[in-house]
Amino acid sequence: MTATLIRPEKPSFLGDENPFEAMMSRFDYAAQLLNLDTGLYKVLRNPEKQIIISIPVLQDSGEVEVYTGYRVLYNTSRGPAKGGIRFAPDVTLDEVRALASWMTWKCAVVNIPFGGGKGGVICDPNILSDVELEKLTRRYTAEILDFIGPERDVPAPDVNTNERVMAWVMDTYSMHKRHTVTSVVTGKPIEMGGSLGRREATGRGCMIVTKEALKHLGMQAKGAKVAVQGFGNVGSIAAELLQQEGFTIVAASDIGGGVYNAKGLDVADLLKWRQEHRYLKGYPKGEEISNEQLLTSECDVLLPAALENVITAKNAPSIKAKVIIEGANGPTSDKADKILDSKGIFVVPDILANAGGVTVSYFEWVQDRGGYFWDEETVNRRLTDIMMRSFGHTLEVAKRYNVNMRIAAYTLAIDRVAAVHRLRGMYA
Ligand code: NAD
Repeated sequence: MTATLIRPEKPSFLGDENPFEAMMSRFDYAAQLLNLDTGLYKVLRNPEKQIIISIPVLQDSGEVEVYTGYRVLYNTSRGPAKGGIRFAPDVTLDEVRALASWMTWKCAVVNIPFGGGKGGVICDPNILSDVELEKLTRRYTAEILDFIGPERDVPAPDVNTNERVMAWVMDTYSMHKRHTVTSVVTGKPIEMGGSLGRREATGRGCMIVTKEALKHLGMQAKGAKVAVQGFGNVGSIAAELLQQEGFTIVAASDIGGGVYNAKGLDVADLLKWRQEHRYLKGYPKGEEISNEQLLTSECDVLLPAALENVITAKNAPSIKAKVIIEGANGPTSDKADKILDSKGIFVVPDILANAGGVTVSYFEWVQDRGGYFWDEETVNRRLTDIMMRSFGHTLEVAKRYNVNMRIAAYTLAIDRVAAVHRLRGMYA
């Protein structure tokens, strides 16, 4: 099925196989399918608010350095903006804006009452001391204080930020408000309002949609062979949970390379090896493979859970998996999508497959606001309900429009955001 693109121009910072460009092409495709009116198209294509700030930090050396920070509230029609804060040397406003838009669609696919946001600071956290990092975080928070908040915009960890950084954001916000406000950020330590099950949530969500995909395709979970690229939070937890569900993990990799064993790898043993040796490299109970070989290895399910843009027009023709579950954000290029489609490979797209994390962030926000905390079983049960329901809704849209699951997920998301805009009308 083809649709003409209605977007007038492409932003110049994005190349053909850039993940953000790929996302926006899919947005356009879905908007076209929905016959989105031009006015609403223009509204949804533009961020609501983009904040650029200068962050002076007194370094340990006694010198002052000034960092640039961003926060973008892409869309808040369905609720407060939601999205991480990243600290990295190559952060740009364009990237933050694209990621904020991504969050808007992700929250809408799983139907949680959030819009999309994202933040970032151009810095290299590896060369900052803990004291400098804390000062940077607190000043960044103080500068965006009027725009964040439980009802406005709720940040979370992203690249190079973690629970500790979230604790500083929460404390800074609370000091200004003169009372403790736990629900201003998610991904906090459990002791101060974090949610049980948050650490495992993205991997668990991947496991749930993998089972749903196989059920839909009439494939057996028991013994189905899985290759996992990336053995961090998402990849290793997904692998562990899939193994518990009877899947056979045949390949795993991290930045140092991978390992393959057609008879199956023991995930607990791999984790032990990683703990002792930092990387999977050298793991003796399998054959050594590269990350590229992992992607085209003999398996039923491929789970990219490391980086953007790893499945491209170059390697897509050689992929043997029948199902791809996108644990990472943006692992598949637009050109690769067409090849995967032609090969009949069933792809569960990132904005659905890895939405377990933001879903449990939503639970954290709900628990903080209610002041009542759920046990882990409740968190996992509610996560399972949302992931299964969202998979079902996306599949319905895919059948209705005769499109793949990715276009279906965007169509579902844009339709939900557009519906709220229509109901709310235009404030003038
Ligand atoms: P992580 O840092 O815990 O793990 C990343 C893994 O990828 C590590 O094993 C690392 O060695 C590996 N890796 C890094 N560079 C690589 C390379 N060049 N080749 C192969 N492997 C490489 O990160 P994570 O939290 O697991 O996130 C992984 C992906 O999932 C990212 O795209 C992230 O945006 C996405 N994601 C994460 C969450 C979450 O809750 N953690 C939620 C949604 C999406």
